[in-house]
Amino acid sequence: MTQKIRTRFAPSPTGFLHIGGARTTLFNWLFARHHKGTFILRIEDTDEVRSTQDSVSAILESIRWMGMDWDEGPLDNDRDQGPYGPYFQMKRLELYQKYIKQLLQEGKAYPCYCSKEDLEAMRRLAQLEKRPPRYDGRCRNLTDKQKRDLEAQGKKASIRFRMPDEGVTVVPDMIRGDVSFENKLQQDFVIQKTTGGPTYNFACVVDDHHMEMSHVIRGDEHLSNTPSQLQLYRALGWEPPKFAHLSMILGPDGSKLSKRHGATSVLEYKNQGFLPEALRNYLALLGWSTTDSQQLFTPEELIARFDLEGCQKSPATFDPVKLTWMNGEYLRKLPVPELVRRASPFLEAAGLKPNGGPQLERAVALEHEKYKLLTEVPGLVDFFYKPLQFTPKAMDKVLRAPGVKQVLLDLAEALKDFAPFTDKALEECIRKFCAERGLKTGQVFHPLRAATTGRTEGPTLFLMLEVMGRDMVLSRLRETAARLN
Ligand code: GLU
Repeated sequence: MTQKIRTRFAPSPTGFLHIGGARTTLFNWLFARHHKGTFILRIEDTDEVRSTQDSVSAILESIRWMGMDWDEGPLDNDRDQGPYGPYFQMKRLELYQKYIKQLLQEGKAYPCYCSKEDLEAMRRLAQLEKRPPRYDGRCRNLTDKQKRDLEAQGKKASIRFRMPDEGVTVVPDMIRGDVSFENKLQQDFVIQKTTGGPTYNFACVVDDHHMEMSHVIRGDEHLSNTPSQLQLYRALGWEPPKFAHLSMILGPDGSKLSKRHGATSVLEYKNQGFLPEALRNYLALLGWSTTDSQQLFTPEELIARFDLEGCQKSPATFDPVKLTWMNGEYLRKLPVPELVRRASPFLEAAGLKPNGGPQLERAVALEHEKYKLLTEVPGLVDFFYKPLQFTPKAMDKVLRAPGVKQVLLDLAEALKDFAPFTDKALEECIRKFCAERGLKTGQVFHPLRAATTGRTEGPTLFLMLEVMGRDMVLSRLRETAARLN
């Protein structure tokens, strides 16, 4: 490709960044990085009622957390940087007005004085006549006098774009091929609201042109906007970018992905203990694949292998089970110190203070194979750092069995001076302990685990004892025995 690649993610800040938006961001980012192009973030805040600063912050935080950097766009929820700025649409109103004026002068757009009630009546009529609801064009040919009279009555005008009455608009889509739309089924859409602000379809075209986007990659819910946008490019005499509409994302039950299917916002995934690189890897496979169906990619591989050719038009299914599996794969690959670093917010939130217990890295490493989510880490190591607490099963089924108290006291005695206090040596020692007393291993191993951890399940026993260390093992054996009185 000789053209300079410029892609963008253009969220409307009216809520959190959801899975669909995160996938769109990712594909734009990967495409730009793959082609050594530029990735731009543009905030489409023209919905004065629904746009909020909190949403801008949450969107920026989500994209940053996912590890996707942008070359131009917001620095925070008010400032931005880059040669094509500002990147907040509400700061670009003059530019939109300039082109509104031009289209009006050229007769390609016109003021429409219809009220909400007029439009609602039009919609109801269309419904009755079983036609698709569509603006009927009644303000298309108002005379100057009619316009003056309406304005004298205090009527506010929106500005509508005059769509061609005939022919078709063909959207050349890089994923779907050519998609044709009959112009007579399209309506003269609003490009400037009665408040004076631009609509999405209009601001988007002006900005994509002025920001020199080479590719517009977005969700397929926008495919139906593209014929309107293409007609605007034509009317303004501009070359349109290339379009790629990504496949729809369905939930596991085959309906459009929504809240019903569980967490939808990226920050919820963060809070649930997913790794950003795992989420990225998973989202990359929603509507894209390699010919060899590779599933796990390093971040570098993903950039190297991603291209629009691998995108499919058929819907993708969001499968939380596969995402969780993938997260586990990523967790297993993390070196332990890094795993601990990533888990630390969750350990802190669980109130774990790793002083007084074994070194956190050693404790966390014991169950490295098991974690699927970072949120599982505290629950699997907390017994090292919290006062002994027994599960009902550990107390009633294991510890209260006859003879257990004596076993615990004898174990404490046997381990008091035993060295080295390590995995293999401990195993040998305790097996010998069983043999000498004619006890089955289960009669000792289970009480030993329950007495030192309060649980009936956990990491492999002898390594766990090694990590716990002699002092804690002895004091817990004695403490438990005392509680069995
Ligand atoms: N602001 C639009 C949205 O959030 C952007 C659509 C586009 O990428 O053109 O859906």
